[in-house]
Amino acid sequence: MSLDEYREFHRRSVEEREEFWEGEARRIDWHRPFERVLDYSEPPFSRWFVGGELNLCHNMLDRHLEERGEQDALVYHSSETEEKHAYTYREVHREVNALAAALREIGVGKGDRVVIYLPMTPKAVFSMMACVRLGAIHSVVFGGFAAGSLAKRIDDARPKAMITADAGMRGGNVVRYKPLVDEALNSATHPPEHVVILNRNLDREMSLTEGRDLDYAQLVDRHRGASVPCEWVESSHPSYILYTSGTTGTPKGVQRDTGGYAVALAASMDHIFDTQAGETFFCASDVGWVVGHSYIVYAPLLCGMTTLVYEGLPVRPDAGVWWRLVEEHGVSTMFTSPTAIRALKKHDPRFMQEPDTSTLRKLFLAGEPLDEPTSRWASESLGVSVRDNYWQTETGWPILSSMNPGLEDEPVVAGSAGFPCAGYDLRLMHEETGRPVTEPGERGILAIQAPLPPGCMSTVWGDDERFVQTYFGDFPGGELYSTFDWATRSEDGRYFIMGRSDDVINVAGHRLGTREIEEAISSHPDVAEVAAVGVKDEYKGQEVFAYVIAKTTEEAGPELEEAVKRTVSQKLGKIARPKRVFFVEALPKTRSGKMLRRSIQALAESRDPGDLSTLEDPQALESLKATTPID
Ligand code: AMP
Repeated sequence: MSLDEYREFHRRSVEEREEFWEGEARRIDWHRPFERVLDYSEPPFSRWFVGGELNLCHNMLDRHLEERGEQDALVYHSSETEEKHAYTYREVHREVNALAAALREIGVGKGDRVVIYLPMTPKAVFSMMACVRLGAIHSVVFGGFAAGSLAKRIDDARPKAMITADAGMRGGNVVRYKPLVDEALNSATHPPEHVVILNRNLDREMSLTEGRDLDYAQLVDRHRGASVPCEWVESSHPSYILYTSGTTGTPKGVQRDTGGYAVALAASMDHIFDTQAGETFFCASDVGWVVGHSYIVYAPLLCGMTTLVYEGLPVRPDAGVWWRLVEEHGVSTMFTSPTAIRALKKHDPRFMQEPDTSTLRKLFLAGEPLDEPTSRWASESLGVSVRDNYWQTETGWPILSSMNPGLEDEPVVAGSAGFPCAGYDLRLMHEETGRPVTEPGERGILAIQAPLPPGCMSTVWGDDERFVQTYFGDFPGGELYSTFDWATRSEDGRYFIMGRSDDVINVAGHRLGTREIEEAISSHPDVAEVAAVGVKDEYKGQEVFAYVIAKTTEEAGPELEEAVKRTVSQKLGKIARPKRVFFVEALPKTRSGKMLRRSIQALAESRDPGDLSTLEDPQALESLKATTPID
């Protein structure tokens, strides 16, 4: 195993693209074989495995029944409700069939959208699988999002049905979902006809709306024993929509195909995550994020593994909870975020060391930059190999990874997310000239030369133009996908991610849109103007700071500060709540009116604010400097 072997592997995946992916496609059961590996006749759109018919749910359940029917497919542990449950492949198959029959009864069929707004329960996984079984398109919305964000997503997806719960729990507190769902449905222009509600008995005051709301358990019980045939869909049929934030106020619906996604995920489990069927995979994320979609739900089950589904915090009841689960279930591979490890790092390493974690081979971390002390602490406390990997909601699986065929014994270089994964033909581009950056260590914007590999987004839901404009509009030729991340490349080909080139904020590995936060704050009647920026934070990577111009100076005080924070929580969810709110007299803008968020961010991080020659009013910066207490 060596770098040369890796280079040859990667070269084949890009230069002999069709042969390479044709081979990888054998990992999946095709109901009808594909006619062409790739159709790239309409750049920058790519269609993979054209003409092939398959079903994701068949590949995750039915095809494993003969060999693995009695093997656990899903093991659930909630440190919030103390619920524990293991389901074999056969049991999951039964649950999913019953739910699919129930959804069919309420009119859900091929191509219909279903919004899933659920906490981390096995029912969230069953719901996703029941949808793809029917050829329906799910759109999972993270349970931490507030009514306004949920309503926006409902209106864009126009779902036939929605699946939700009475409540979730976080840190021992009940988080009521139903009132929030009702609020979202009341304000939405395109609410679904039916809402299926999982009653976890957490909210005794929950009320159902007659005719619209249906009880999950009753509905499924009526269909126990049902057998719902898989709907065979063409490879490019959308499997799901997952909304993600950008720099505008409107989230983008990332549309994923079926065939390309199945093949890419199955290949990634072998090449990157180095797993085997029958082993247990523990991805500690949430089904509401892309990591949860790909590595809690789809990839482990496509590959005949056991997936461990966890509800709760990594430090509750204590910082040993994950590692006891690793011992109890013999977990071989784990995947989480650097933020989670930083939260654990505040605790005694004996929490990691006391349980027997000898089955664990590797810990994968993604979602935000991995700092060397965090990586070293995890690797020393656990005695496992810690592997960084870098990707985005849009790509669905890693773009870069320090684990790839040939790299097993290569030293892991601190701060590098690794080498390009199969099929990713990467370029570093100069932001202004639009030309490639070639010198080792020189900074550029990381771009992917189209066609994008299988599994990456096919388009923006309902808006091809936005897909082309947003992702392919920055560089000449229109065939370079911009990741909007800064990066450098070393002489031997390792990439280092340096942060976003746009104004997207990344809190604890979760992406937040600047405009969304600013729009929420501006809706407060006492706010005249606002700029939101992401500022470095020791634990969460970044935190949101809001710089507010109040309508009158008398209003600029603690009361408005609290109201601003509350407004963001209510409109977008707690995750977007600003950590600090500063009242300023002016905000730095260019003469053409563009907010210089990067300068604000630089000042907040005690850095040089950069080129200010385009600044319209130099006073604005003085006002900022005076009010930004740097601590
Ligand atoms: P999301 O689409 O929410 O997964 O966010 C994707 C963004 O998170 C990327 O564009 C990067 O800015 C950041 N990101 C993800 N993984 C890494 C990583 N391993 N290192 C550095 N940044 C990362």
